[in-house]
Amino acid sequence: LGIIVVFHDITKLIRLEKVRKDFVANVSHELRTPITSIKGFTETLLDGAMSDELILKDFLTIIQKESDRLHLLVDDLLELSGIEQEGFDLNIRKVSLSSIIEDAKKIVSGAVEKKKMRIISEVDETAMILADSDRLIQVMVNVLTNAVNYSKEETTVRVGVSATMEGTTIVVEDEGIGIDKAELPRLFERFYRVDRARSRDSGGTGLGLAIVKHLIEAHGGTVKVESEKDIGTKFTFFFPERKM
Ligand code: ADP
Repeated sequence: LGIIVVFHDITKLIRLEKVRKDFVANVSHELRTPITSIKGFTETLLDGAMSDELILKDFLTIIQKESDRLHLLVDDLLELSGIEQEGFDLNIRKVSLSSIIEDAKKIVSGAVEKKKMRIISEVDETAMILADSDRLIQVMVNVLTNAVNYSKEETTVRVGVSATMEGTTIVVEDEGIGIDKAELPRLFERFYRVDRARSRDSGGTGLGLAIVKHLIEAHGGTVKVESEKDIGTKFTFFFPERKM
């Protein structure tokens, strides 16, 4: 039995080392893409393209967009590494889920309007949980942003909150492009995207759901995703009842 245990430990270590290497490779790649683009466009401008005002504006807009992307990526990386640190602290208070959801909806309202979408929420007004409200708002913003990014115009996103003796459930359901069953198990991995181009175009870093999973689990909760291609996706977060 001892040998089998050691063997298990070794295979686990090898797997972790692969995850770490993949992560470093992914980060480097994600950083390199915008940097290469910023460098290229700056060089072309300095080589003389600057004299054409239209080109100048075009290139500067690209440079700005790519810098924003770098900024977002570094913010998400810092966030993820922060919550992965040992001793990472949540600022736990008794919070009302209806106010969390209202705050998150406000933050994504610009994107929602732009796509002529709507978010309908059905929230048990009495639902309270022990949570870090800023972190929970962030979770909701990440999931709602995805629901908007991966949906067609004029569709609806539904948010539901219900509380029972066992615990509190938050559901976010969209009518979007959906996700193939085969992709679901890897969805919460860092940098995993079903469609890299679409994620990039919508400003995604590929880290949003990894952050979501970490934060929900740090709260003692669980995450579930169900999806059907071209029908929609449903995320369910469950927080077991805790003494307040
Ligand atoms: P990203 O920044 O790429 O959105 P996430 O970690 O938030 O990264 O999500 C990972 C991937 O999961 C996305 O690239 C997308 O392919 C898929 N995804 C996430 N949410 C949805 C959704 N609501 N509908 C369809 N696909 C989704």
